[in-house]
Amino acid sequence: MDNCIFCKITAKQIPAGIVYEDEELLAFKDINPAAPVHLLIIPKLHIDTLSSAQPEQAALLGKILALAPKLAGEHGCAPVTHADGSVTGGYKTLINTGPDGGQEVYHLHAHVIGGPKPWRGQR
Ligand code: AMP
Ligand code: ZN
Repeated sequence: MDNCIFCKITAKQIPAGIVYEDEELLAFKDINPAAPVHLLIIPKLHIDTLSSAQPEQAALLGKILALAPKLAGEHGCAPVTHADGSVTGGYKTLINTGPDGGQEVYHLHAHVIGGPKPWRGQR
């Protein structure tokens, strides 16, 4: 898609802090991070929003979701269960959809947000 910033990142026409790439997906650091770890996972294929995804793209959506815990773990955000049963760590996986959903970039992306708090807008 012309004029899509995330398509331009996919095409390496503009730089990004790429942390993962395969044939179908790309993940890179959010330029305006809301937390110490803030990654975006996108399909290389341009899809406007989650609501634009077609049923035959369900596997692609699944790959995006499956990549989130892998990248979160690689960036130190996996939840850890301690001997006393308490759990620390973890991360947020977020897909904003449409204006009311707070979507700013109309190329489907999942946010992976984590790391030591505080995070923007959250304790
Ligand atoms: P959303 O509100 O879900 O559409 O989020 C769009 C996200 O893309 C925001 O968190 C922006 O900081 C991020 N963003 C916009 N442009 C870039 C860029 N060139 N490289 C990395 N992240 C970007
Ligand atoms: Zn795009």
